Amino acid sequence: PSPPSSVIIIGAGVSGLSAAKVLAENGIGDLLILEASDRIGGRIRKEKFGDVSVELGAGWIAGVGGKESNPVWEIAAKLGLRTCFSDYSNARYNIYDRSGKIFPSGIAADSYKKAVDSAIQKLKGLESNCVEDATNRTDFTLTPKTPIELAIDFILHDFEMAGKEFLVADERGYEYLLYKMAEEFLFTSEGKILDNRLKLNKVVRELQHSRNRVTVRTEDGCVYEADYVILSASIGVLQSDLISFRPPLPRWKTEAIEKCDVMVYTKIFLKFPYKFWPCGPGKEFFIYAHERRGYYTFWQHMENAYPGSNILVVTLTNDESKRVESQSDEETLKEAMVVLRDMFGSDIPDATDILVPRWWNNRFQRCSYSNYPMISNNQVINDIKAPVGRIFFTGEHTSERFNGYVHGGHLAGIDTSNAVLEEMRKDERQKGKQNQNF
Ligand code: FAD
Repeated sequence: PSPPSSVIIIGAGVSGLSAAKVLAENGIGDLLILEASDRIGGRIRKEKFGDVSVELGAGWIAGVGGKESNPVWEIAAKLGLRTCFSDYSNARYNIYDRSGKIFPSGIAADSYKKAVDSAIQKLKGLESNCVEDATNRTDFTLTPKTPIELAIDFILHDFEMAGKEFLVADERGYEYLLYKMAEEFLFTSEGKILDNRLKLNKVVRELQHSRNRVTVRTEDGCVYEADYVILSASIGVLQSDLISFRPPLPRWKTEAIEKCDVMVYTKIFLKFPYKFWPCGPGKEFFIYAHERRGYYTFWQHMENAYPGSNILVVTLTNDESKRVESQSDEETLKEAMVVLRDMFGSDIPDATDILVPRWWNNRFQRCSYSNYPMISNNQVINDIKAPVGRIFFTGEHTSERFNGYVHGGHLAGIDTSNAVLEEMRKDERQKGKQNQNF
């Protein structure tokens, strides 16, 4: 029998690990995972903050309770991962203005309706497949202008709230799920992966590909060869110049990669000596209405997840994320305290600690997740996913239905490995035919 094919998987996030697991289960022994950072998990990452574990990347298991079951939810349930249901429905009734007054529920409901109507109008225009037309048809009076309209617009468009969402609130972190997945096919001992098929701190810089082989070069000068490569680097990394391809990727591929927007989403954690914000039912999420869209708009207290932790989280996106990433944490802390004092008065205590993740400036991420423009058709995602010779592309950004989510990454990894296995079978059949002819 011909020797089994070899596969190199680039990246040990959820998609890379899911892909590797499928290959291992299908008897592909010659398997190598090259991960640029010093850990597995990618955009699933916990960190100790105060006395608890907080999730810097993915925090929620989304899309639970829909028509289809979410496989990540099922794995989490099997492992007994602790989660809390997030009820966002009341957030719009906890909107503070700059003087600390909560907007009356009637005004909040009106603004909310206006924002939803505007979104529907836009969508209808886009569905007619004419962008210009869509812009023209949007009623100008529906464009958000006031602080409360801007705040609601931000929440509607910059957050992906899909189905029921459960916040992972487990000291072992969301990443525990990935360690357990890895344990099923990699050699581990005392919670550590000791298998030499996983190589950390291996930054892939070049993929040279021919009809029969792929040669992978890493930043530390190592060279690896395989029959196939599965590349799980994020859409942000694909848009950057971290990895070069020889020969270069075809134009249809690079154009598709450029068409996908990247979303930067930053959760800033603040620790306080005591609670000064309202707790209790319907109070977990609250909103700050400011004349600058997305300026420290969306807040959450962590009392439901970790009672007594005295931690608040504020979420920033895109330009605000990039701005905050480029300044010192002290400056960010000062800004956040001004906002909190607007909402809760001048005598609240200063935060004693702050944690600001930097996904945009991380050269192994360059984004938080993919965000396909509403008008993009399936062709863009199909082109991003399509293999180029023996290089197969995976990752959340290649998931048609769940891009941007952990379960999207998980399902994409499985799909990509199945596609590689199919290709191997084709290869085998081809070789068999050639031998017969000979
Ligand atoms: P990654 O996890 O990015 O894995 C790719 C791996 O490739 C990384 O480990 C990276 O280091 C490595 N790599 C990159 N370049 C190279 C190279 N040149 N050589 C070698 N290795 C390389 N999803 C949800 O479902 N719910 C949420 O609540 C949620 N919130 C989020 C909040 C934030 C702040 C962020 C950042 C993401 C969030 N997501 C959420 C999205 C979710 O985290 C991702 O969709 C998912 O984890 C992506 O997995 P992946 O395997 O596709 O990519």
